[in-house]
Amino acid sequence: MSAFAPATLPPSAPPDALGRRLHDLRLSVTDRCNFRCTYCMPKEVFGRDHAFLPKSEILSFEELARLARIFVDLGVEKIRLTGGEPLLRRDLPRLVEMLANIDGLKDLTLTTNGSALAALAKPLRDAGLQRLTVSVDSLDSEVFRAMNDVDFPLERVLEGIAAAIDAGFGPIKINMVAKRGVNEHQIVPMAKHFSGADYILRYIEYMDVGNTNHWRHDDVIPASEIIALISREIPLIPLPPNYAGEVANRFRHVDGGGEIGVIASVTQPFCKGCTRARIAADGQFYTCLFASSGHDLRALLRGGLSDEGLAKTISALWHVREDRYSELRSDATLSLPKAEMSRLGG
Ligand code: SAM
Ligand code: SF4
Ligand code: SF4
Repeated sequence: MSAFAPATLPPSAPPDALGRRLHDLRLSVTDRCNFRCTYCMPKEVFGRDHAFLPKSEILSFEELARLARIFVDLGVEKIRLTGGEPLLRRDLPRLVEMLANIDGLKDLTLTTNGSALAALAKPLRDAGLQRLTVSVDSLDSEVFRAMNDVDFPLERVLEGIAAAIDAGFGPIKINMVAKRGVNEHQIVPMAKHFSGADYILRYIEYMDVGNTNHWRHDDVIPASEIIALISREIPLIPLPPNYAGEVANRFRHVDGGGEIGVIASVTQPFCKGCTRARIAADGQFYTCLFASSGHDLRALLRGGLSDEGLAKTISALWHVREDRYSELRSDATLSLPKAEMSRLGG
């Protein structure tokens, strides 16, 4: 430390084993969801008798906020709340308010399926949520209902998005998972609909997360194909990354009509710039979306470990991190045990 650096600055976590810093944290606030998206929580696995976490095993708001503060002290600048479906967590605006008050946190955002957004957009905004991502896989209501697999109507989600814009969340990110033979005909209509200053559209390559969605390579629509399809109808100009390590390849409509991006985690893995940590709703700390297991922070929290002790443990776990699953993806990695997306929230 230089002689002029303030002595009170907490030390950031050291970079991981591949030189990647700790910058983003995804906090899952529930493992429950009211949708059964076929690529994430297939009904035959997440059926009526599925054992979700009991309340006692889920981190309280106080525990979540404490961990968040420690991660921010270790260098995290961005927190994304996720799930399961995060809006199902009761009283969520109270957690948002607690997180929004953490000194040093620069970006607080949330990913939702939008089903409860019409009622919650304003309270979340008032509580200090800065940005919002809403998942919409299709504008064809039949396809939308089939993909969420609980017959949830598209209109309710579109109402939620409109409420979020009214509440001041603009531009809103829209996530579309593109799956071969399921919603590829929606790629261009989505680009036309979610254009303009209110939206940033993100196409996500279908990923082999978890072990339940029967992922096949053939079901992935490569990012290059997505861009080619759109470019035939809407001329696009590539945009530079907003920051080092940004996961989306970005473009804008030539006529200035809006931004789109593709997240090519299968065809163009971005592990080299991966600065994300993830905490599941039960307090397991994961250093990769495809990890088979996490590290139990809840036991340490509830066992009475000090903030300093927790910070040291997290730093040490980050420092030895070697994950780069997407770069190593092969037929052999497919059958490895992996945490489910609905635990880690993407
Ligand atoms: N329930 C919320 C939602 O759907 O927005 C938040 C959690 S969800 C797991 C986060 C994101 O992961 C969503 O945008 C969803 O579409 C995406 N996702 C889920 N399973 C996926 C898969 N197999 N491949 C790619 N993206 C996936
Ligand atoms: Fe639920 Fe989101 Fe998974 Fe769909 S993608 S099942 S909305 S957690
Ligand atoms: Fe990060 Fe793991 Fe995804 Fe690679 S595979 S980008 S290390 S989460």
